[in-house]
Amino acid sequence: MIKIGLTGGIASGKTTIVKYLMALGVKVIDADLIAREVLEIYPEIHAYLKETYGDVVFREGILDRKALGKIIFLDKEEREKYNAVIMPRIKKLVEKRFRELKDEKYVILDAPLLFEEKFDKNMDITITVYVEKDAQLKRLMKRDNLMEKEALTRVESQMDMREKVRKSDYVVNNSGELIDTLAELTLVLKKIGFENEK
Ligand code: ATP
Repeated sequence: MIKIGLTGGIASGKTTIVKYLMALGVKVIDADLIAREVLEIYPEIHAYLKETYGDVVFREGILDRKALGKIIFLDKEEREKYNAVIMPRIKKLVEKRFRELKDEKYVILDAPLLFEEKFDKNMDITITVYVEKDAQLKRLMKRDNLMEKEALTRVESQMDMREKVRKSDYVVNNSGELIDTLAELTLVLKKIGFENEK
């Protein structure tokens, strides 16, 4: 199996690209989805959140992911503390998913924190979806209905996109039209020997 780590900044276009890859028949492990699952399966995480933030992050007893996201995006220290609790569990579940998909030729791990949380160490190939900051802010504001300042805070709370580009084996530039992005992606897939499975 060839493990491909896919990453990029917030609203860079990872999901858009993943949808295209899934249509080609590639199996994708979504780290964000796994993070949500982890919140459901480990009651101790709920206990930790309740103890740390109180009722602010719960609505009628159910975790309010948006409220949690606000705290975590705004405060680096809180983010690091939270990641230290949740990441080992996410990693375990990611490994389990890879094992379940062991017969696949290519499996993608879609992980916004691929480099930050060192998922890349277990990947054979890494790809960063790059987007210029102006386009990124515009898309983020539109998609999440955010004011520019909020969007900027979220973008700037992350690892610099250029750093991700430096660390990765391949880059797909999604600053322009989607059709050009997909053409670039096709070239990368060719370079890594990907054959259309369908
Ligand atoms: P996140 O990590 O925040 O979930 P993401 O990297 O998965 O984001 P997407 O959700 O795929 O990013 O894209 C962000 C937004 O930009 C979406 O609303 C998507 O429809 C739009 N978008 C993606 N690519 C393009 C493009 N080339 N041109 C215009 N809009 C785009």
